[in-house]
Amino acid sequence: MADSTERDARGTIHAGGEWRGAVGGATREILDPADATPFAVVAEGDEKDADLAVEAARRAFDGGQGAWPRTPVAERAALLRRVAGLLVRDREELGLLESRDAGKTLEEGRVDIDCVADAFRYFADLVAAEAPGRVVDAGSPDIHSVVVHEPVGVCAMITPWNYPLLQASWKIAPALAAGNTFVVKPSEITPLTTVALIELLVEAGLPAGVANIVTGPGHTVGARLAEHPDVDLVSFTGGLVSGAKVAQAAAPTVKKVALELGGKNPNVVFADACATDEGFDTAVDQALNAAFIHSGQVCSAGARLIVEESVRDRFVTELARRAERIRLGRGTESGVECGPLVSEQQRAKVEAYVASALAEGAVLRCGGRRPEPSPQRPATGYFYEPTVLDRCHREMKVVREEVFGPVLTVETFRTEDEAVALANDTEYGLAGAVWTTDAGRARRVAGRLRHGTVWINDFHPYLPQAEWGGFGRSGVGRELGPAGLAEYRETKHVYQNLAPGPVRWFAG
Ligand code: NAD
Repeated sequence: MADSTERDARGTIHAGGEWRGAVGGATREILDPADATPFAVVAEGDEKDADLAVEAARRAFDGGQGAWPRTPVAERAALLRRVAGLLVRDREELGLLESRDAGKTLEEGRVDIDCVADAFRYFADLVAAEAPGRVVDAGSPDIHSVVVHEPVGVCAMITPWNYPLLQASWKIAPALAAGNTFVVKPSEITPLTTVALIELLVEAGLPAGVANIVTGPGHTVGARLAEHPDVDLVSFTGGLVSGAKVAQAAAPTVKKVALELGGKNPNVVFADACATDEGFDTAVDQALNAAFIHSGQVCSAGARLIVEESVRDRFVTELARRAERIRLGRGTESGVECGPLVSEQQRAKVEAYVASALAEGAVLRCGGRRPEPSPQRPATGYFYEPTVLDRCHREMKVVREEVFGPVLTVETFRTEDEAVALANDTEYGLAGAVWTTDAGRARRVAGRLRHGTVWINDFHPYLPQAEWGGFGRSGVGRELGPAGLAEYRETKHVYQNLAPGPVRWFAG
């Protein structure tokens, strides 16, 4: 992995096997959200850089017999496994880079890198174990009919800032496994680990032009990639507004579009889950984790606590007591449990949501402000205290919209039907959880939740083998699992007549 000085000198745009700066010469400083100081400089590409990168990816895809789409599957799987090995080798360095760039704790950064390596291993194993095609019985020994899968072509990938490398890996690993070439555009504020991953792909032996990256803004580079006629697929992870723009930009060229968007995820707690001290402690602890890990900047954050009325007071009192004790600080400091928000803009957005909730009648149980500065928490950092807002209801803006910060709203229910209705009352449908000791209820509620992932007595775990994605406005398509590979493939039916003869439909 190149160090940042080396990277600054040679540029962070990689197209056709060459590292360089932006065509227009622009650069951007990358800030450490813990103190707002610049700690790296990247190239700020624009539409011209996007065009050059797509051109390189196109050439690599359309190349001759030896080109990447036509390499044997075993070779592609071996490359993915080598990348996983390099990620393990560079885990500390990459984890630290992710922590500084996105403001997460160092431990979270390390876990992210482990999950990225898992994604590369998973898709390597998946393609390596596949049958080459599905033979179809055409009803005649003279017909050989087989359905095969082929790469889509040039894939554009646009990723967010909360899990920069993890979100990129859920696209890059299956795209490469399937034999595509790609151009990735990471979030303009957290591009560093994605640049580092491209270096590892090159080191692992990926041919020039297969993996390309353009660092730069969404409205220029991202928009150009989405509309580009030579891009065959665009896979986007980010907010609903930008996702809709990507879908619109992609429509005229009828490319494949995959969208992983936001969520407003319910965490439904039944009283029976809190009947014992142990059950109560687990449910509170997990509600805390659901809402506040990575300062709530998680698409599947359990930002809506929907708790049975009879246990609300005890539950929320304990939750607020524990939320107040969360240790905020620079993610790289030991003992810190939550880092800053990613940017001043993100903190301002969170502050506006809390203000609107209070104006609409929510009751502040803790947080709701910036913390006092300390040696671990410079005054210039974008810190915000974990916030619990009680007495919320579904008409409130803070309950309806994705805050993407450390803000937990509390609503209550009395019946199972009411709990389900509240949990499904969202335009999103990414993830949700139900806490209960009643196995029948757990199954019933899980079956009725309109969300892409449902946890029973847990929150947040995902498996690379299981599909991830949303119902409703949480997106289109799936990542991970076999469907996450299928996104990057076309399906082709090859029908061979072994005894061809005339049809004689036409008389003459
Ligand atoms: P964002 O929508 O602001 O930006 C995401 C990416 O899109 C960035 O790279 C950005 O530069 C680019 N972009 C912005 N406008 C664009 C345009 N017009 N055309 C093309 N690209 C454009 O989102 P964000 O603030 O970076 O990330 C937070 C959002 O991501 C949240 O809504 C979160 O829920 C969502 N997210 C979803 C998942 C999931 O798996 N469903 C995972 C992580 C994050």
